[in-house]
Amino acid sequence: MVKQQPLLRISHVNKIFKMDGVEVKALDDISLEIQKGEFLAIMGPSGSGKSTLMYLIGCLDNPTSGEIIFNGQNISSLKEEALAGIRNRGIGFIFQMFNLLPRTTSLANIELPLIYSGIHKNERDKKALVALETVGLVNRSKHFPSQLSGGQQQRVAIARALINDPPLIVADEPTGNIDSKSAKEIMELLTNLNKKGHTIILVTHDPEIASYAKRQIMVRDGRIVGDR
Ligand code: ADP
Ligand code: MG
Repeated sequence: MVKQQPLLRISHVNKIFKMDGVEVKALDDISLEIQKGEFLAIMGPSGSGKSTLMYLIGCLDNPTSGEIIFNGQNISSLKEEALAGIRNRGIGFIFQMFNLLPRTTSLANIELPLIYSGIHKNERDKKALVALETVGLVNRSKHFPSQLSGGQQQRVAIARALINDPPLIVADEPTGNIDSKSAKEIMELLTNLNKKGHTIILVTHDPEIASYAKRQIMVRDGRIVGDR
């Protein structure tokens, strides 16, 4: 039997930031394989390199050295425009601060990624409503972010991440700014998306949140120190 190609193969990746002549080694010889359909949590203390790793996995940045193969394609040194193409087709993002446009309704926030794809308004509305239904917020489609709770805002952000039906969803501390009851709802939502076939990669420093994932990776000082 032919082994299925991994979604991501990260080999000996380093990331070094230079600031005012000082070098910070944010990632130090990281090697990691992620299969399609996984639900993975990246854990570690603040400053350990979780977000930096997430940026590389999400095709938002290049490594300083090492190789990243995404869906069989070497993306290690792709330029921003090519990376953006991969992100638009294949990756949905969820951030700690929701990153919704403030003067824009739920529906319009969710449609944003579709505007760049040149899809007509009627079609956009239809898709956005389906995404809102997935996160249980159809009755909040005309609300602005300030009229929603933190947990609801994050669900709108999840609907936005889902709009292009991406195979991979990456979430950086998605429950970092919401109460524990909403956090549980968000994690149950992510669990359901994983059951439907989306690969989920989650960054968190909270062991309870990480326990929703099937696999947990521990990062410390830019190195992987545990994988279970
Ligand atoms: P975490 O998400 O685990 O808190 P980060 O990946 O954000 O950690 O940061 C890892 C290390 O890299 C930290 O020491 C941080 O200060 C540094 N770092 C991250 N991003 C940058 C950047 N853009 N410029 C300079 N240093 C950075
Ligand atoms: Mg971080």
